[in-house]
Formats: sequence, C-alpha cells, structure tokens
Amino acid sequence: MVTLVYDVIIVGSGPAGLTSAVYCGRAMLKTLVIAGAVPGGQLMLTTEVENFPGFEEPILGPDLIQHMRKQAERFGAEFIQDDATSVDFKTRPFKINAGGKIYESNAVIIATGASAKWLGLDSETRLRGKGVSSCATCDGFFFRGKDTVTVGGGDVALEDTMFLTKFANHATIIHRRDALRASKILQDRASKNSKISFVWDSVVEEVLGQQKVEGVRVRNVKTGKEDVLKCDGVFVAIGHEPNTAIFQGQVELDQKGYIVTRQGTATSVEGVFACGDVHDFHYRQAITAAGDGCRAAMDAEDHIEEKGLRAH
Ligand code: NAP
Repeated sequence: MVTLVYDVIIVGSGPAGLTSAVYCGRAMLKTLVIAGAVPGGQLMLTTEVENFPGFEEPILGPDLIQHMRKQAERFGAEFIQDDATSVDFKTRPFKINAGGKIYESNAVIIATGASAKWLGLDSETRLRGKGVSSCATCDGFFFRGKDTVTVGGGDVALEDTMFLTKFANHATIIHRRDALRASKILQDRASKNSKISFVWDSVVEEVLGQQKVEGVRVRNVKTGKEDVLKCDGVFVAIGHEPNTAIFQGQVELDQKGYIVTRQGTATSVEGVFACGDVHDFHYRQAITAAGDGCRAAMDAEDHIEEKGLRAH
C-alpha cells in the first residue's frame, strides 16, 4: 500500500479545516486536507450567510467554502476528496487511512464537524427522501405550493422555515416547549411571516404516509392530547452530533462524543489538535470555526517547530 508523508494532515473541509489549511500552507508546512467524500461541511447546506465578516452583502454558503478552498490551495495545501476511514494515533508519525491509501504526518488537525440529528422514529427513517429531510436548502424547492412542518425551536429551525416559505403554501413549526431557543432577531422575523404558524409544547410521534409524507401525528406534552396535522414535507432541525466515530479509542471524547480539548486546541494526544464543531458545541458559527481553525494551525506549527519535526 502507498504511504504519503506530510507535516500536517487536516481531516475535514468546513470553515475550521479550510482556515487551518490556509494557515498551515502559509507557514510552509506540507499540508494535506482529507476533505471527505462530500466536502465543505454544513455551509454547503446553507443559502445566504450574512454574518461572516468581510462580506457586506450576503454570500452563499457553498461560495464562501469555495473561496476558502481556493485560498488554501494558493498556499500549497493539497486536497483529496475521500473520507478518512481509520486513524492510528498510537504510532509516530500518525497514520490515517483514506480512499485505500495510508497518509502519514507529524501533526493532525481534526475538523470533521457535526451532522444533523434525527428524531429516531421508524416512520421518519422510512420516509427520508420521500418528504422527510434535514436540509431545507437542499429540498425546499420540491415543496412549491405545499404545506411543510419543521421540528425544532433553534436558529436552524427558524431559518429553514423562513427559507421554506419562499416555496411552501404554509409552514408550521412544532416545538417541544413554549419558548424558542432561537435568537431574538430570527424570532422577530419568523413571527412577522404570515406563512408561518407554531404548534407549542408538542412532539412528533409519527410521520404519516406510505409512499410519501402525508402528515404527522403530534402529541401535546402538557395535555397528552394527540392531533394529526396534514403536510407534504417534514424538516427535522433539532441540532447536531459530532462526527467522531473514527476517533473513538484514539483521542478523548466527552459523553456526547465531542472531542475534549485543553490548552488551546490540543487533544489528549500530543500532536493531534481539534477545531470547529467537532469540539465546540456552544458557539457553532462559521466564523468561530474559522477562528478556531487558525488556532489549531498555529498550535500544530508550534508543535512541529518545538519538536523539530518539520519533514519538508
Ligand atoms: P440548537 O440551537 O441546539 O436547537 C435545537 C432545537 O431542537 C432546540 O429548540 C431543541 O429544543 C430542539 N430539539 C432537540 N432535540 C429534540 C428532539 N429530540 N425532539 C424535538 N425537539 C428537539 O440547534 P440548531 O438550531 O441546529 O443551531 C445550532 C447552532 O448553530 C446554534 O448555536 C445556533 O445559534 C447556530 N446557528 C446560528 C445561525 C445564525 O446566527 N444566523 C444560524 C443557524 C444556526 P429545546 O429548545 O427544548 O432544547
């Protein structure tokens, strides 16, 4: 099997990984980004980003990612579009398996982000892609003139639902409490949108329909009363979980599977760093992930220089 050696390998290609790549490339470190089979992270599923500094007008999430990637490539970062399938952080140099090849490096930056969570209903799984979705940006277009339901009360639930109203006849937000978690500005915008209504204190017990979504069975958690709400699409926007399956047993994870960091971006393994949503379950913004990616790159560079490990 072919082995390729780098100073730094970055796993993941959202804003955290790509910012790391810009900084590592600019530090003249031989840098590989294992970008994933579906690269770019959560910004690829976003429409307009209007809170990333430097862009007076909104920029599309995929365009922002493309700019970052080109910037990293300009400084010499290499990219492969495969998933990392296993890692060995117990040997030196570190080893990462991706696309049937082994890649080695003296430092690793983990920037694999987080993925959308699901409700865990059998009916939800059965009807995924047949009206059940976690990505309004990807699938909203299919609901022109139809009725949709969004589950969740956070920023994503509200943003997604407002996006859906560009197409949908009506959009209902079902939230398990009587108060939203979303930011005030989004709450204001959603409450002024005449196409949006709310069902409070309620959970979805079942997605109805055989071949495609026809409605949801909803239970009020305070009264126990059940109702059927007719709809054509169900958008699940209840948060995310970290993409850390391949790092189990290799670096310390917390109870929810997020990577534990200490002293900047250091993990439990010297020379392995983590940045972005894979360890940050609080801020989770593109800009905080990018800033964190910068920190991880600087920490990785310090590690390589201090240990005299620069191979190139
Ligand atoms: P989130 O803020 O964690 O909200 C998740 C929502 O889903 C909460 O309302 C939660 O209810 C609900 N929920 C969780 N598990 C559930 C379950 N099993 N059944 C029913 N409901 C459930 O996640 P997010 O909306 O995906 O946002 C993630 C992060 O990105 C946040 O930090 C957010 O601020 C940020 N973000 C920011 C922007 C922006 O600034 N423009 C845009 C998008 C996202 P409870 O409220 O009861 O916990």
